[in-house]
Amino acid sequence: MKIQLIRNATVKIYFGGKVWLVDPFFANERSLPPFAGKTKNPTVPLPISIREILEDVDYVVITHLHPDHFDEKAQEEIPKSVPFVVQKADSEKIKTFGFEAIEIQHERVLDNVRISRVDAQHGEGEILKVMGDVSGYVLEDSKNEVLYITGDTIWCDKVKRTVDRFSPSVVICNAGGNVFLPENHPFKEYISLEHAYKVIMDEKQVLQLLNYKKDTAVVTVHVGALDHETVSRKELRQFLKNNDVSGNRYHVPEDGEIITFCSH
Ligand SMILES: [Zn+2]
Repeated sequence: MKIQLIRNATVKIYFGGKVWLVDPFFANERSLPPFAGKTKNPTVPLPISIREILEDVDYVVITHLHPDHFDEKAQEEIPKSVPFVVQKADSEKIKTFGFEAIEIQHERVLDNVRISRVDAQHGEGEILKVMGDVSGYVLEDSKNEVLYITGDTIWCDKVKRTVDRFSPSVVICNAGGNVFLPENHPFKEYISLEHAYKVIMDEKQVLQLLNYKKDTAVVTVHVGALDHETVSRKELRQFLKNNDVSGNRYHVPEDGEIITFCSH
């Protein structure tokens, strides 16, 4: 299994002989509004060309349709011949964009890879009213390799249940600790926030995941690309190191970096 972080949650996965592109978000650097009033997003450019990203992709996998996971540029650039794996809530919308939507309610086998949809929780309390449905996915191949893509979720019982059920050897974990702030957030029309809401895992929650399942390796993504993050790659690495997590259990890739896991 090979995992290439592109940028934010956009990840290219070589798994079971196929290439899976998760959450394609292709916007130009600083072409979209801020999420926390700091700077325009994304804060960095794509590390490689869109042509290169798309050249060998067999499936697109969408965890949810927030603009930092699937955007207009991706919608324009991805060939209509590439099928999309989606949760029920996003199926119709993906079809209206002209793509084939493979809706996963529980699980399906695609080209000898079993793909299971699992629950995610994009924050807690008030903020959930505006976050919409989010899913994670688990990929399993015929050699019993198991990869868990968390999607945008906090550390919670849903994630624990997925880890218990599938016992993944590798987890791709969205880990920028992104927050929405009461004074500056994109949902002002719909909701006022009493305090800051964290909507995905941060360094402490990644540590909880690593401590919960001692034989899992984590690849952190969704860090280093948006203005509402609370943790940097450097801080993630330092925090996990300070908490005595063995260096081979976590990977904090730079944009464009490829991590290879040998099958056992
Ligand atoms: Zn996100």
